[in-house]
Amino acid sequence: MDFELSDDHRLIQRTVRDFARQEVAPVAEQLDRDKSFPYDIVRKLSELNLMGIPFPERYGGAGADTLAYTLAVEELTRVDSSVAITLCAHTSLGTQPIYLFGSEEQRGEWLPRLCSGERLGAFGLTEPEAGSDAGNTRTRARLDDGEWVIDGAKQFITNAGTDISGVVCITAVTGRTGGDGREISNLLVPNGTPGYEQGEPYRKMGWNASDTRPLTFSECRVPEGSLLGERGAGLRQFLHVLDIGRIGVAAMGVGLAQGALDEALAYARERRAFGQPISRFQAVQAKLADMATEIEAARLLTYKAARLKDAARNFTLTAAQAKLKTGRLAVRAAEEAVQIHGGYGYIEEYPVCRFYRDAKILTIGEGTDEVQQMVIARALGA
Ligand SMILES: Cc1cc2nc3c(=O)[nH]c(=O)nc-3n(C[C@H](O)[C@H](O)[C@H](O)COP(=O)(O)OP(=O)(O)OC[C@H]3O[C@@H](n4cnc5c(N)ncnc54)[C@H](O)[C@@H]3O)c2cc1C
Repeated sequence: MDFELSDDHRLIQRTVRDFARQEVAPVAEQLDRDKSFPYDIVRKLSELNLMGIPFPERYGGAGADTLAYTLAVEELTRVDSSVAITLCAHTSLGTQPIYLFGSEEQRGEWLPRLCSGERLGAFGLTEPEAGSDAGNTRTRARLDDGEWVIDGAKQFITNAGTDISGVVCITAVTGRTGGDGREISNLLVPNGTPGYEQGEPYRKMGWNASDTRPLTFSECRVPEGSLLGERGAGLRQFLHVLDIGRIGVAAMGVGLAQGALDEALAYARERRAFGQPISRFQAVQAKLADMATEIEAARLLTYKAARLKDAARNFTLTAAQAKLKTGRLAVRAAEEAVQIHGGYGYIEEYPVCRFYRDAKILTIGEGTDEVQQMVIARALGA
């Protein structure tokens, strides 16, 4: 086993680390407070060719691998989760399905604009009655005169309602497969299509500068060629997309926990009590030591999932384990970091306060902890 990163991996890690410190850190608190989408930062990420990291250069991507993408997401989340989830949802969920399952025509139409960051991609799976039970999709699409006519609603969708949102990939019931079985397919719906509307942004606990909205489709017509891949393959397609997405969200968990440790350690060295820095107290040291150890274990699991995917091996189990481990770790590490900050940890000017609010979604989004446990138990043969 080789634990060393290649020169290319180190370069992207260093590039994104510097970018996050210089460009994101100074504005993160303000963006969060104003709940304002980070358009400037997305533009700068685009200039660095970071909006399509794992996609081939012929489509405008960076032609890098999943590990490179993982490192970039980790470094962004170390400083700010809203920016990280914007890039992460755009890449793993918005762009990925088109790259994996799209026709050459669909790829040609969308990937250059998505990989360049000119447009953002979104993935609309969750519905009021279909979250963990994602196959319970109620949104319907019927063929009429060479067009799909879509009716239904999605909720909690990231990146669909910004000024630069380009397309959402949605699951819809397109027919029956016999008996009670429902045929689910994925369809691409461009922003601006009549009948496709994005509701007001949710008021959230965290990820305040990211875009999350409900979507509605009423008599929304898209060309027959908007079907992504095979008709009826929607369930298989979104399960694969979620597997990949879990590696990105796991990287967010590692990054957030590392950011919490960075802040806690720096604060503990500065803050004095009983005549010495609080970092000298064993109770504080134990917290820092446990955080560092858990982070390293979670990081290795996450990198392993990325490596397995890059080696074209099965990564479903490892991605679910990484997602489960890192989500819990992020919540715990953020809480410990707040604790080490004492009362200041409860005050918004301190990044750990935002980290604490941003962490919780990592045990819910992209499949809850309980769903990860189901995936893991299934892989174990239980
Ligand atoms: C900020 C944010 C951004 C999001 N972005 C997107 C996005 O871009 N695209 C998208 O499609 N979705 C998105 N989501 C939705 C997210 O993926 C879902 O919220 C999540 O999958 C959980 O679904 P649910 O909310 O319907 O909860 P439910 O499925 O109703 O779950 C409620 C509780 O029941 C538990 N539960 C359910 N079934 C079982 C079971 N079989 N066994 C044990 N426990 C069970 C769950 O674990 C959970 O604790 C986002 C959500 C948020 C909050």
